[in-house]
Amino acid sequence: MAPSAYIATEEYHLSCDKLQSCDYIARGVPVDHGAGTSKQLIGEALKSRVEAIDQDTCGVGEEDAFFVADLGEVYRQHMRWKTHLGRVKPHYAVKCNPDPQVLRLLSEMGVGFDCASKAEIEQVLKMGVDPSRIIYAQPCKTKSYVRYAAQSGVKQMTFDNADELYKTKQLFPGAELYLRILTDDSASLCRLSQKFGASLDTTAELLELAKKLELNVVGVAFHVGSGASDPKAFIKAVQDARFVFDQAATLGFEMHTLDVGGGFTGDDTFEPMAAVLSASLDSYFPPSVRIIGEPGRYYVSTAFTIACHVIARRTVTDATLGTTSYMLYLNDGVYGNFSSIIFDHQNPVPRLLKCGDAMLYDVRRSGYDTPSMTEYSIWGPTCDGIDVISQSCVFPEVIDVGDWLYFEDMGAYTKCSATRFNGFTDAHDVVYVCSEPGAGALLGF
Ligand SMILES: *Cc1c(COP(=O)(O)O)cnc(C)c1O
Repeated sequence: MAPSAYIATEEYHLSCDKLQSCDYIARGVPVDHGAGTSKQLIGEALKSRVEAIDQDTCGVGEEDAFFVADLGEVYRQHMRWKTHLGRVKPHYAVKCNPDPQVLRLLSEMGVGFDCASKAEIEQVLKMGVDPSRIIYAQPCKTKSYVRYAAQSGVKQMTFDNADELYKTKQLFPGAELYLRILTDDSASLCRLSQKFGASLDTTAELLELAKKLELNVVGVAFHVGSGASDPKAFIKAVQDARFVFDQAATLGFEMHTLDVGGGFTGDDTFEPMAAVLSASLDSYFPPSVRIIGEPGRYYVSTAFTIACHVIARRTVTDATLGTTSYMLYLNDGVYGNFSSIIFDHQNPVPRLLKCGDAMLYDVRRSGYDTPSMTEYSIWGPTCDGIDVISQSCVFPEVIDVGDWLYFEDMGAYTKCSATRFNGFTDAHDVVYVCSEPGAGALLGF
């Protein structure tokens, strides 16, 4: 199995149309949205790559950590979005994971994009995406990037302060502006409102200034915080947006679009969140108002699994207690793809992939499942003490140098914020698999 190769499967369980209409495959066997197939494909990809690596003879970096990405998972998330938030047109937040195949699939599925820099806008435009499908959703922009957006025809952008309006007047008077408002993000994983968003007692002033500058304000944007967990935050934000729409109308603006931002998680809180959001959208905004969203983690979190190599081990014996535990050192850590521990408040769950000659992916037991076994702490490869992945976990196996661990749900805010600190790589291979034929067809796999 060559790195980065696409692994095709004959065992397609669901087609795109069937997924939308029912949860049964042709043979009438219920399926769990393709998840069984997904795990199987990911497991095969992990195993075949790991089996091909001999730590005693391999070239430099051949044993580096690598991802397996199931693009079928991204596809299923999109179908799930369409089912539960049909009124909201998603614009994927590129910063979350700018993986080229993920972007390509989303683009093929007709998803729009939320970009925050020149490089992100350029990456999306280079795929042939029409500039009208991009929103430059950064209320505090670099001047030269605004010029770039203007030249490229990316008109939609957000603002939340007066200086940004003067900047827009100078550089891109034809822009289609969204007024980003403050939200209550206290129940979210990563708060954004200390940094961005106009409070409701400043929106009138900002709209008056925009009017005076003859700028085109077309809508309102908000973001309830990344990893939002309280549906009430959405209700309040939608009500506030309605207030600003009405305020704008009295000043002569004809706002036509509401941007409900991101914050959605891919776990089973999505459906209740979506139901609450849909209901409040329908009660506050007539169908004539276009609704867009900027989901990031929702689309990619579960699609990526990472495998890491145990490069070193330290045995820790406690003479008084008579216990032995181990410190394991992996070839990836918080300065690499586990940056999500620091920046995104995640706790990636260690699982054992290969121990000696045994392949253990199918066991699916995590290092937090079974107490009173051999204790491990898991560290990254750099010389910094902050570089720790797990302070304490347990496995029945004796894990040694050369074994492999894997971590699921590593698609959001991981690779994109990895560094090269201490000379370790930030360029990790991604092996793509695809558990949905609909996605495979769109990508030409
Ligand atoms: C980060 C960000 C997003 C994506 O947030 P998620 O929580 O990953 O969905 C969307 N919009 C803006 C403006 C952002 O900054």
